[in-house]
Amino acid sequence: MSIALDCMKCGVPMELGKVEVMYLNNKFPIELLKCPKCGMVFIPEELATGKMLEVEKALEDK
Ligand SMILES: [Zn+2]
Repeated sequence: MSIALDCMKCGVPMELGKVEVMYLNNKFPIELLKCPKCGMVFIPEELATGKMLEVEKALEDK
């Protein structure tokens, strides 16, 4: 599974990396696309629109 996405700012390909996301006062380490140059994190729409609960569940299952 690979998603090719360029940083809108730098135009360099973003890389998958562990990112800590805050949700309900808890930190969740998840893998997100990140710009290696400026560190900007690409937040998928599902996360931005409140599907974090599913991410939380997925983490518990592991
Ligand atoms: Zn960048």
